Amino acid sequence: MKLSRQFTLFGSAIFCVVVFSLYLMLDHLQLDRTKNPSSGSSFPGQLTILQEKIDHLERLLAENNEIISNIRDSVLDLSESVKDSKGSPEVGNQSRVGYPELLASPPLVIPIQQEDCHFAAKPYNKPADGVQMLDVYDLLSFDNPDGGVWKQGFDISYNENEWDTEPLQVFVVPHSHNDPGWLKTFDDYYRDQTQHILNNMVVKLHEDERRRMLWSEISYFSKWWDSIDSQKRDAVKSLIERGQLEIATGGWVMPDEANTHYFAMIDQLLEGHQWLERNVGVKPKTGWAVDPFGHSPTMTYLLKQAGMSNMLIQRVHYSVKKHFAIQKTLEFFWRQTWDQDTTTDILCHMMPFYSYDVPHTCGPDPKICCQFDFKRLPGGRISCPWRVPPQTINDGNVKERALMLLDQYRKKSKLFRTHVVLAPLGDDFRYNEASEWDQQFQNYQKLFDYMNSHPELHVKAQFGTISDYFSALRPAAAVDPVSNTSPLLPVVSGDFFTYADRDDHYWSGYFTSRPFYKRLDRVLESHLRAAEILFSLALASVQKANKWNDFPSLENYKLLTEARRNLGLFQHHDAITGTGKDWVVVDYGTRLFHSILNVKRVMANSAHWLVLKDKGAYIHSSSMPLLQMVTRNPFLPLSLVIYNPTEQDRWSVVTVYVNTPRVRLQTASGHAVTAQVSAVWEETTRASREAFQVGKGLSLQKSLCLYSCIDLQTNYHFIVMRFILQRVKYKEGGVEHKVEVGFVWYGTTSNRDKSGAYLFLPDGEAKAYTPNHAPVIRVTKGVVFSEVTTTYQHVTHTLRLYNVQGIEGQSVEISNTVDIRGEFNREIAMRITSDLNSSDRFFTDLNGFQIQPRRTMAKLPLQANFYPMTTMAYIQESGVRLTLLTAQSLGVSSLKSGQLEVIMDRRLMQDDNRGLGQGVQDNKITANLFRLLLEKRSETFKPEWSYPSLLSHITSMYLNHPVIPMVVSPNYDSLTFAPLSPLRAALPCDVHLVNLRTIQAKEGAGPSHEVALILHRRGFDCEFSNRNMGLLCSTTQGKLPMGKLFSELSVQSVTPASLSLMHTLDGGRSQEEIQLKPMEIRTYRVQLR
Ligand SMILES: [Zn+2]
Repeated sequence: MKLSRQFTLFGSAIFCVVVFSLYLMLDHLQLDRTKNPSSGSSFPGQLTILQEKIDHLERLLAENNEIISNIRDSVLDLSESVKDSKGSPEVGNQSRVGYPELLASPPLVIPIQQEDCHFAAKPYNKPADGVQMLDVYDLLSFDNPDGGVWKQGFDISYNENEWDTEPLQVFVVPHSHNDPGWLKTFDDYYRDQTQHILNNMVVKLHEDERRRMLWSEISYFSKWWDSIDSQKRDAVKSLIERGQLEIATGGWVMPDEANTHYFAMIDQLLEGHQWLERNVGVKPKTGWAVDPFGHSPTMTYLLKQAGMSNMLIQRVHYSVKKHFAIQKTLEFFWRQTWDQDTTTDILCHMMPFYSYDVPHTCGPDPKICCQFDFKRLPGGRISCPWRVPPQTINDGNVKERALMLLDQYRKKSKLFRTHVVLAPLGDDFRYNEASEWDQQFQNYQKLFDYMNSHPELHVKAQFGTISDYFSALRPAAAVDPVSNTSPLLPVVSGDFFTYADRDDHYWSGYFTSRPFYKRLDRVLESHLRAAEILFSLALASVQKANKWNDFPSLENYKLLTEARRNLGLFQHHDAITGTGKDWVVVDYGTRLFHSILNVKRVMANSAHWLVLKDKGAYIHSSSMPLLQMVTRNPFLPLSLVIYNPTEQDRWSVVTVYVNTPRVRLQTASGHAVTAQVSAVWEETTRASREAFQVGKGLSLQKSLCLYSCIDLQTNYHFIVMRFILQRVKYKEGGVEHKVEVGFVWYGTTSNRDKSGAYLFLPDGEAKAYTPNHAPVIRVTKGVVFSEVTTTYQHVTHTLRLYNVQGIEGQSVEISNTVDIRGEFNREIAMRITSDLNSSDRFFTDLNGFQIQPRRTMAKLPLQANFYPMTTMAYIQESGVRLTLLTAQSLGVSSLKSGQLEVIMDRRLMQDDNRGLGQGVQDNKITANLFRLLLEKRSETFKPEWSYPSLLSHITSMYLNHPVIPMVVSPNYDSLTFAPLSPLRAALPCDVHLVNLRTIQAKEGAGPSHEVALILHRRGFDCEFSNRNMGLLCSTTQGKLPMGKLFSELSVQSVTPASLSLMHTLDGGRSQEEIQLKPMEIRTYRVQLR
């Protein structure tokens, strides 16, 4: 059957060229290419080698009995519909027309300037007064002795006269912690509690100017703001101006810091700050994070870059808190490990006790402090579990009560180096009733009045905001306002994972809980970013063509805004963590899914404008759009637009679904492109007769590239065999490294406290996964990719090798579809076992931004050795590194030398007593996507610091930002299209375009003419070979010619700004060159036209 219809493909890569390749063993093929760079002639030989390797794999499969699994992306068809790869050898008898054009050989060695290598060669910062968290872990015994009234601490004593010369200064900071979803959905909490808290706040703060309140979640604040009249808004503004109400952090939510990617952390901060600037005109100065389950220095960096100078954290391992309390280092300058000077320092207060509730904030004794939570007065709904209730303060008891409270304040102050004490006063959803405001504020005021009127007590106590506290602390700690250093306070580097609040209760379960949604989050992130960039480009182009009124800019901007907010909401520490109630999880999931569909519309609408050759022919039709996203529904061959959302030129394999195996792909100019037709599997052993996948390697050197597909007479065959794959071997540089992939089960302990949404409490070491039935193995061989799929009862595991030159050919794609819905208290993990001698050391990323060295410690329980993995984890021995790159956040560990282990799903039948009140039983069929990369380093490693290679960074980017194909509607056959390259050239290898985000107009809900250009210069290790790796870029010491960044659009103005646009920075309105420091993330306010 011949189809005459032209199949036009446009690669609408924003910035781009993609290269993709797909085969398993890296060694010989690479060597062959090196010897013979003219790719065309070397392919037959390579094919043979590939064939041999696949055959070898099959033999291994047949021989062995273990577990491996596969790809069947059931989450959404999203990750599956696009597989990055590079075009490669021909199929059957097809001609090779157009081949050189698509397979132009990349340079063998990319030129990296020597200056760009200095940064990663330097060790992590270790100042004389500095503390590295990994060293602290070495010191601690984690013995957990009973500390008395302060159970996890120690007895505190003091002399009465210690404050005679310098009085104690106490700031009681009223706060209300409002989770945007947890036991109730965001909307239900708002309706039942939050709106009342905020309404009462306006009234009650106005009653007495000495009262203070802290608020941090803008998602709630903005919803409330929309519902109040202008009179009330003015009242709120006056409270803020008078310093009675402080907005702390000002993000859309108080984000989780373990599972979140820095793209989304920044986006929710930007959304919150932009909202505040537009509506209230306030710039937060202090970070406030009382509830995230462990703390990441990435958040610290982002707060600092956003212009904040102080921050507070709470959930830190109890042994670490105790150690810091003994050392009096609970207040410190938190510095990035990689910072070579002091520019990332931010003043941080770590709360010393168990919780942020009132019993654990006034001082060390919760039985006493609870008596100063006046919501717990007798007759109320809540009481003190220590069975001594609060007393209403009156003339008769004020002296006794004031002295009792002062004793706690004094003891707390003994844990710090200054005479300034912070005592937060609040809890979850507090101050919702007017009576509670009266109870707390009136009783505390009487206590303060008593203390302050007795000079012999040497105390000044008052309500304060968190910034009031820091304003008093800074001079007390002799912090130099210019250099931001203090002779009293130490410097701390590192992170605060993995959190334990008591005993062996480590919160490493939530690194994986509800993995389906953790994957969905990243799918929305990559689509939102792609849509933001395309929309910003389209808008500038529309403006340039004076067609502002023709383009549906307002409609699309509203969709983007909603998506930003839905993504922001999901970064909340009970959302992406998987620690909400079942129906709350569904609410989040619905929002994510809805926004994925919407940002796809924005992408299609924007690409529509951008690919049109004749802009005069532009007509927007929402009922009959020009472009639609490729779905799993097979279609007749049509024209395609392909969008590469990365800032690099790239080769990629793009997969689309068609209804015939006889398809041929060609470029817009009529050159044939190599493609591979594969089966679509309806069941494990039954291939669809109606649907086929076409995978093709495309060069995306243009933003919008054109390809057409006709009548490809492909030889295709699918083999179904019964084999089991045991191991995969990699070779590099003549040395063979064994890498086995297998699966294991964890159960939960038989103790009373069992694993749940937060906690991981395994019943000892993992047990091998032993399936009841022999697995079904499918082997697909092809010219573009080959894969082995093993289907077990609980997991379908696919190893895919891209047989193409370049980046994607350097790693193996691993895809696991996990289904443990029928299990009882079990967790399934993928364990990669290699022969690398990595000892007890491994490395995990933090939020996709930086690398944290880890050490597996025998003195800690197994669950304490798990850490969050957002984008990668690796192990290494002298000269060799094995990296597991991931497309979703999961918990990871390296329990034995040479191993990497990822928990992929958990099904737990009970609550783990952290307030959720349920287990995790809403498991879904969940697809996890990884890449495994083996690299050779020219020198041995230093274990104390580490950076990924450029290849690793870019492989991660390919994994996280797949190419997006769109189908051209047949109704628009008469139109002509033009490819687009918005960037004049690919950005340097180490510079990542985090976002190009259109800023909202001052008035209304539509877009302005300005965009926020957010750039990140990655830190990378130069000592890895960059020979023939397919890198198509160079480095420039972080320099970028801003005025010449874009090809068709001109940069009208460039204004350096703080990360979230709150502050305009010095540096002028330069259109000339800018320069980023290694690791730096910078935001510029840019006008394009
Ligand atoms: Zn919370």
